[in-house]
Amino acid sequence: MSKVAIVTGAGQGIGFAIAERLHKDGFKVGILDYNEETAQAAVAKLSSDTAFAVVADVSKQDQVNAAFDKVVEHFGDLHVVVNNAGVAPTTPLDTITPEQFERAFAINVGGVIWGSQAAHRHFKTLGHGGKIINATSQAGCVGNPNLTVYGGTKFAVRGITQTLAKDLAQDNITVNAYAPGIVKTPMMYDIAHKVGKNAGKDDEWGMQTFAKDITLKRLSEPEDVANAVSFLAGADSNYITGQTIVVDGGMVFH
Ligand code: NAD
Repeated sequence: MSKVAIVTGAGQGIGFAIAERLHKDGFKVGILDYNEETAQAAVAKLSSDTAFAVVADVSKQDQVNAAFDKVVEHFGDLHVVVNNAGVAPTTPLDTITPEQFERAFAINVGGVIWGSQAAHRHFKTLGHGGKIINATSQAGCVGNPNLTVYGGTKFAVRGITQTLAKDLAQDNITVNAYAPGIVKTPMMYDIAHKVGKNAGKDDEWGMQTFAKDITLKRLSEPEDVANAVSFLAGADSNYITGQTIVVDGGMVFH
């Protein structure tokens, strides 16, 4: 019987690429997004038999619980949860507002906590272990310009990943994270635009601010990230937990 995965923020970008890859790997996939239109479109691109859309805001515990329940009811099982949904406000220090701070932490950090909590509840009820995989960033490994709030959330995700790896190992659950670099998605184009604008420069300048240090000299495709997540979702990573796999073409070495 095929395994079941939930990917949050799977309506577009990296989340969709992950859902597409896990689907190709043989998973039935729950496509969770707060954008119903893109979530339904993602299912249409995969298959209405083996993909299923659920609408939830990952910053809301009750919505996450209800959406996970629907996927488990629909497919009858759950093995892998990818807490991918995130937002990336561009925040030079003096411009940060309480609203930006609260929203980014509620989604990027809260979303990982509520998604992990719902995953743990279902894995226990289903009587088997599982894999929790969280989205951090190279900006959660080293400081990046203008990203105080975003970087803060992504450093937090690595901490949560390490803590949950310790807490959930007894339930046969591994918890790992992936740290993309500069990926060609709507999120990254938005950051490049705003960083360029803040400096009185164009979008290309904004992108190069981040991209100039990529050792492999090309921006990342969403599929580069999905390849690593496929590994973390599969049996070949069974002896890995608490780790962050950096998928950034060689920006951060550690
Ligand atoms: P994106 O903005 O292109 O897509 C994000 C998706 O998440 C969208 O479908 C959006 O509707 C959904 N989403 C956002 N907030 C949500 C919420 N509260 N509840 C439910 N769904 C929500 O972003 P992306 O570039 O694909 O990024 C995916 C993840 O990878 C994020 O966690 C991001 O921080 C991380 N990341 C991206 C890059 C990059 O270069 N693009 C780099 C490092 C890390």
